[in-house]
Amino acid sequence: MPQKTSILIIYTGGTIGMIANPETGAYKPFNFEQISKQIPALKSFGFLLETISFEKPIDSADLKPDTWVKLSKILRKNHNKFDGFVILHGTDTMAYTASALSFILQDFYKPVILTGSQLPVEMLRTDGKENLITAIEIAAAKENGKAIVPEVCIYFDNKLFRGNRTTKRNAEYFDAFDSPNYPHLAEAGIKINYSRGNIKYPDYNKIPTIHNDLDTNVAIIKMFPGISQNFIEAVFNTKDLKAVILETFGSGNAIMDDWFINIIETANKSGIIILNITQCLGGAVIAEKYETGKKLVTAGVISGYDITTEAAVTKLMYLLGLKLSNEEIKTYMQESIAGEITK
Ligand code: ASP
Repeated sequence: MPQKTSILIIYTGGTIGMIANPETGAYKPFNFEQISKQIPALKSFGFLLETISFEKPIDSADLKPDTWVKLSKILRKNHNKFDGFVILHGTDTMAYTASALSFILQDFYKPVILTGSQLPVEMLRTDGKENLITAIEIAAAKENGKAIVPEVCIYFDNKLFRGNRTTKRNAEYFDAFDSPNYPHLAEAGIKINYSRGNIKYPDYNKIPTIHNDLDTNVAIIKMFPGISQNFIEAVFNTKDLKAVILETFGSGNAIMDDWFINIIETANKSGIIILNITQCLGGAVIAEKYETGKKLVTAGVISGYDITTEAAVTKLMYLLGLKLSNEEIKTYMQESIAGEITK
């Protein structure tokens, strides 16, 4: 008899499993029983479902990179035992976790689908039930014995996204996520329609591994008209700082003041990696398009092309953790290593 498809659900916390405090009305994380009680269909799926619940479920706003390390260990340990994985996670930092895992997990060939909800599963109008049920179906979907989507993804509001291309764009409506620079990997209607041409496939001959030494000595500066020298200096004087993400205007432009360019040049010479990404939701840095962007290139700033902030910050943590040379990190930051950049 063929073996039943097996899915491991990892419950980390988030709104999906939260309940309202009867006195204050504020949501706080609750345990997985809360979810399974509300979705009896989980029992009649026909798949073998196992669950690992974080002992203390977290609001993902309070998440630290050690959660990514913990998740990566669970996923590696169970990679060969299950056909796919679903991670229940708060929406606030889901795009960071999905991005981080896409770098940490190497040569995994099982789907890792993150999902959650905007309304707790105990509420009548919850989006959590559909999100979880379809995420399980996607994690279980196979063709010729292989997973249809062997990637780290986010499934939310009928759409499947490549995880490291996502960003949380809406705090109110059900379409909380977007992937402005990469097409959806699937859309769920009556059927789940997979866009096979957009899916990334691993090298099945390699052995899945994890690289989860992360170095968090990174900073983000979002440019705005009137940004002060004191602030920029303070950031670059941060103890142990190794990399700075500059969220610039439009296609990669920033102020041209001498004091600013001097700080950037000095930091670059001292070995701090400076990455230029756009603060626009969609599109890419084309650094040499304007004089204002060109100056940054001359000062040693590298281009992040169309990478999201979430992918940029987690990729830097990952590459810095690998203890590579500055030149190597700069090279990898300007290339796609997990489908996070289009060039
Ligand atoms: N604060 C919650 C979290 O990220 C929000 C959510 O789950 O939607 O855990």
